[in-house]
Amino acid sequence: MTFKEALSEGTGMLRKAGVPGADYDARALLLFASGMSIEKLAASYGAELPGAAMKQYLHLLQRRMSREPLQYIMGTAPFYGRDFLVQRGVLIPRFDTETLIEAVLPYLKPMMRILDLCTGSGCILLTLLLEGPEGLEGTGSDISEEALYCARKNAEQLHAEAAFVKSDLFESIEGSFDLITANPPYIRSSVIGSLEAEVKEFEPLTALDGSEDGLEFYRRILREAGSHLRDGGRIALEIGFDQGSDVKSIMESEGFRDAAVLKDLAGLDRAVIGVWNYV
Ligand code: GLN
Repeated sequence: MTFKEALSEGTGMLRKAGVPGADYDARALLLFASGMSIEKLAASYGAELPGAAMKQYLHLLQRRMSREPLQYIMGTAPFYGRDFLVQRGVLIPRFDTETLIEAVLPYLKPMMRILDLCTGSGCILLTLLLEGPEGLEGTGSDISEEALYCARKNAEQLHAEAAFVKSDLFESIEGSFDLITANPPYIRSSVIGSLEAEVKEFEPLTALDGSEDGLEFYRRILREAGSHLRDGGRIALEIGFDQGSDVKSIMESEGFRDAAVLKDLAGLDRAVIGVWNYV
């Protein structure tokens, strides 16, 4: 079978299985299975796909047909221009989360200390360390060992220096910080069942389920965050599109000032940011 035939065959298989974005995913899997660049593929459409690559391609297509996310199959997900390693047990970085990065980058100054709770793959913390000024000090925490393993591997791979600590939110965190970030689980428990198969069947529930009203982690984080922030320090939290006013009120009632809801590129509420106790 030629590359061209393999591509149209694979696209058809994914489409039939109801996989969203079948064309894109078939191409990505063909490139992955054959180890080719997109430019080389374009020049090789008429060539025969080697047997081993074909076998691998079919195997990967089967995995995608079961709705396993493309990022778990390939083992990486792009975030803010870099590839992060991901695997089952770790939330796949989302494009939406880049809103949080854009929101806090302007506040970073050399030598600041950053704490990223619910760090998952480490994508928020590591991106800030790599994009921000010199001398930032970063700590990431997560309750999941699988997440910490993945975050540490990402730090190594991306040549970033950060400490990763196993902790249930602030439980094992000491000291105070200039910035706290988090993308905590925020989906209402009753909504989980209606998420895409890729999310509900493959991604870790502990990274998604935010309790009955979706706000439990914001309450817990904001109750304790003040005692881990220096005066004038900031907190920036990712939120769901309908949680802006609730999270802003919790933030204000816990003593934060200048609480503001920020929108993502789709115009939806995506982050809340606030300042601790400045004079
Ligand atoms: N944004 C994720 C989703 O829509 C949810 C991430 C989270 O709960 N923190 O699947």
